[in-house]
Amino acid sequence: MSILVVGSVAFDTLTTPSGQRKKILGGAATHFSLAASFFTQVRVVGVVGNDFTAEHEAVMTRKGVDTSGIEHANGLSFHWTGSYEGTMSEAKTLGTDLNVFGSFDPKIPESYKESDYLFLANIDPVLQLRVREALPGVKMVAGDTMNYWIADHRENLLKVLREEDILIISDGEARLLTGEHNLVTAARKVMELGPKSLVIKHGEYGATAYFSERSFAGSGRLTPFRAPALPIETVVDPTGAGDSFAGGFYGYIASQPELTPQVFRTALFYGGVMGSFAVERFGTERLQEATREEIDARFQVFRELSHLDLESAA
Ligand code: AMP
Repeated sequence: MSILVVGSVAFDTLTTPSGQRKKILGGAATHFSLAASFFTQVRVVGVVGNDFTAEHEAVMTRKGVDTSGIEHANGLSFHWTGSYEGTMSEAKTLGTDLNVFGSFDPKIPESYKESDYLFLANIDPVLQLRVREALPGVKMVAGDTMNYWIADHRENLLKVLREEDILIISDGEARLLTGEHNLVTAARKVMELGPKSLVIKHGEYGATAYFSERSFAGSGRLTPFRAPALPIETVVDPTGAGDSFAGGFYGYIASQPELTPQVFRTALFYGGVMGSFAVERFGTERLQEATREEIDARFQVFRELSHLDLESAA
């Protein structure tokens, strides 16, 4: 099974309490692809400039990611500058140089048209919708977004939400989208806008899945499910944690024969595992080196983290 992801492929300049990195490989689609590549075939649609070298592309192709849908345009690649302070729960954006990303018009190679799963990473909802409409046959659509689109491009975003099976956003974004502080109420209202299921990320505290009657055929509305995040002592760089979470989550789903409640819950754990690797080093460094064995070992740690064995406690 294969996932087509559309989103930013970028260079990031990052400052965190651990140090600084200039123009290192980043972008939502990049982080997502690397994380998902451990589970399934991934195909990327994006745009880069002349500064994006064969070595940058190889970071993805070495993991089996199909990059033939990354357009090479004349100019510079998207460049994001951000910094983190204190709790590091939120990035401060210092610069967004769109460069060739500013006139991005996603082109889907013929060889991508048979993709089964679509992930709409954080880009202009107009482009998200265009890609979705170009792939009418996909089995499942999941997506992300951010405050900027929620606040200033709401009408366009609402059109995309109607197309999504699973929306993956942060708790702050869910509140902004609905005007509701209570997350259970916010989740219900988000799903009324279209998504069948909703994953709300709580940064370093994990993620919660909310379900509607439409999440799984015949099962009614299930109770929410919360997966933990790993308490980590050395958080070097949170950039890409959300996209790596989404990659692990959706990659696992795509690797399974069908989406059941159990697959959904397990996927949340794999999302947490990939997010926890992402933050341990700058940019994509840690995910480039991760192995399937490490992923499985950490998955077991995640299970133990929240496992209550009443039998042995008695
Ligand atoms: P995350 O930390 O998972 O929310 O994602 C961070 C990644 O998103 C970075 O690697 C950036 O290159 C990318 N990014 C930041 N701002 C934007 C934006 N406005 N549009 C698309 N991608 C962005």
